[in-house]
Amino acid sequence: MQIHHYEHGIHAIDSGYYRPDLDAIHFIVDGGEVAVIDTGTNHSVTRIVAALDELGCAPEAVRHVLLTHVHLDHAAGAGSLMQRLPNARLAVHARGARHLSDPRKLWDATVAVYGEDHVMNAYGALAPVPPERIEVVPDLAVLDLGRRQIQVLDTPGHARHHVVYHDSASGHVFCGDIFGLSYRELDRDGQAFIIPTSSPSQFDPQEAHQSIDRILALAPEAVYLTHFAQVRTVPRLGAQLHRMLDAYAALAERCRDTGDARYSLLHEGMKAIVLNEAHRAGWQPHDEQRLLEVLGLDIELNAQGLVSWLEATTPAGR
Ligand SMILES: [Zn+2]
Repeated sequence: MQIHHYEHGIHAIDSGYYRPDLDAIHFIVDGGEVAVIDTGTNHSVTRIVAALDELGCAPEAVRHVLLTHVHLDHAAGAGSLMQRLPNARLAVHARGARHLSDPRKLWDATVAVYGEDHVMNAYGALAPVPPERIEVVPDLAVLDLGRRQIQVLDTPGHARHHVVYHDSASGHVFCGDIFGLSYRELDRDGQAFIIPTSSPSQFDPQEAHQSIDRILALAPEAVYLTHFAQVRTVPRLGAQLHRMLDAYAALAERCRDTGDARYSLLHEGMKAIVLNEAHRAGWQPHDEQRLLEVLGLDIELNAQGLVSWLEATTPAGR
């Protein structure tokens, strides 16, 4: 089990989703207590238990499981994991809570986007969480962990059930998907490359801008992304996210009335936005193919999410 160890008692592991270093699970250890941030899938549960063991923490020491949102690459394992952590409470946005105590709707909605075989293989069956173990966390809620406190910020834009967790001890923020995707295999000379995720079906660029600004206002030295783990130079990455969100929104508006060609135009346009940022960051044309391979699925999902956003913002009858 490879554990990435950071400062301030913060650690990360690979959840085992799809390919290496795609999907991270984070831990904060303080004064004999543990918080686990996002759970990965059902296939991640044994990894989490093994990581706790390696960190010298008993399952009983886990006080909080903190979900950033209930997309299945972040939360599918929550029900099974809670069965292994007898003292933990599960923190989640009010809009996500009912999906954890009764996961059927979440399951059906995900199957509608990705297909049932795929969802079963990728995530495993969703176990419900007993309602009394779920803690709905409103904006600015504060949770205790050892000697530190963790503050919750409501951060829509990627999903309406999305929160981030601000750690008082480090000043760092656990951002789920709202501060974009940044794969370590795309680091160049120690510099991270980041893109916003607009995956279906609740992307909202205006809300995403505001949520990113809330995170930047905390001036964190580092933030942690589910895809993937710690990034620093946060102001630079925030500026890139803002710039790209504007480009996503402009692309979507250009494609609003393009009929059957819409998805393919959005897909090509999304590729162009990513390549444009890559050139800006110093990527050379001969590396572009690798970039597009690593980001290929995200580019597809981002284009699909722009379709959802256009549908949600097109007046009825048009
Ligand atoms: Zn997500």
